Amino acid sequence: MLTEDNAIIGRAISRPGTPFKIERLRYQLGQVERNEAFLLHAGDCAESFDACTGQNISSKIGLILSFSLILIWGARMPVVRIGRIAGQYAKPRSSNYEKVGDRQVLSFRGDNVNGLDIDDRTPDPERLLRAYFYSTATLNNLRGLLTSGFASLHHPRHWSLDHVRSPALKREFETIIDGLSDSLDFTRTIGADLPGVSYETGAGRGTLGEVDFYTSHEGLMLGYETALTREMPVPQNVAAQQKTKPTAFYNTGAHFLWIGDRTRQLDGAHVEYFRGIRNPIGIKVGPSMKDEELVRLLDIVNPDKESGRVTLITRYGASKIDQHLAGHIATVKKSGHPVVWICDPMHGNTQTSANGLKTRDFNNIISELTACLRIHTECDSRLGGVSLEFTGELNDEGFSVTECLGGSMELKEDELGLRYQSFCDPRLNFEQSLDIAFLMSNHFKN
Ligand code: PEP
Ligand code: MN
Repeated sequence: MLTEDNAIIGRAISRPGTPFKIERLRYQLGQVERNEAFLLHAGDCAESFDACTGQNISSKIGLILSFSLILIWGARMPVVRIGRIAGQYAKPRSSNYEKVGDRQVLSFRGDNVNGLDIDDRTPDPERLLRAYFYSTATLNNLRGLLTSGFASLHHPRHWSLDHVRSPALKREFETIIDGLSDSLDFTRTIGADLPGVSYETGAGRGTLGEVDFYTSHEGLMLGYETALTREMPVPQNVAAQQKTKPTAFYNTGAHFLWIGDRTRQLDGAHVEYFRGIRNPIGIKVGPSMKDEELVRLLDIVNPDKESGRVTLITRYGASKIDQHLAGHIATVKKSGHPVVWICDPMHGNTQTSANGLKTRDFNNIISELTACLRIHTECDSRLGGVSLEFTGELNDEGFSVTECLGGSMELKEDELGLRYQSFCDPRLNFEQSLDIAFLMSNHFKN
């Protein structure tokens, strides 16, 4: 496990968000808006200090890269990758208290605030410093992976293939990798892999085969977020093109932040904070969002209707999406606000299994996702991406977690307890995630 001994070093050097990279993400999200790229937002529901290990970080990145490769292959479109990583330590809760056995205790609010252990539920502000340390440690590890060749499209076999147990999935993935290797070889042979012709990065920089990766977390704890927010110069080309002021407030703790479904009140402190930062932001949109509320929210956080600034992350639930999405799309269209629409098929589909475990059924996840694709098409709109909670984590014997039901591995209720490792929301495991990647890839291919 990474220790806190290097905290001082981490403090000095590690912030993910430089204005340059944050602006680059805004630009790429503008491409998603215009149907020129696809967005993959994914990772754990919440990270934990204990799970901050090199092995876990590379499994997460490996899964995100594998997923995006499958999408790129099917949709023939660049994929913008944003991880729920390097700072996703705070959880919104619907209730201040929870019942554990016969005890009534304060709810667990994420490692940022208190401990999962029921005797460690008193909020402790020192935890924010630890969160900062673990975020920077994760980031340093991430940077190492992204620059070491691990993340290069030239070596996709490094990411994950060993973990895929289903022979059919393995075969499908191998076919893509073989095809990709051929294409990259060909591109190299004809000399087209020189800087400036990147298909992958989208913004015209980098070399074919390199990947971009961005970090994100829910902007929940405003004290923490403001401490990482700085007024900094807007890169000159952006300031000139978009006629911005010469400086702006950047949250340097992540490239992308989102407002949760429980903290998006129009007159609330979260909306006020988000209004003031230049980072691209996400807004969770659930069944309780009223049409006029959505437009007022967009007016507040994006008054100049700038491209790439707002991503709407819809999370209604499979049984409610038909009731709400079309209305929201029509309202936003009428308002003239440019947005990226992405589907979070996880948060509206949480259920409790007979043995008391919080779970999600793969069929409901697919059902919300396919309804979302269909409704966007019917409304002459476009689904720009997905937001998923998944994990490539394996146990010591190399088996995936068992937190969501179904998928090609047909996980049953009585198998949930086998390797249930999440201390927050249930995540799709490696195989279930690839199932979704192939489903989407095939959708976009057709
Ligand atoms: C989450 O993304 O983990 C989350 C809590 O989502 P929501 O705010 O949509 O419930
Ligand atoms: Mn969650």
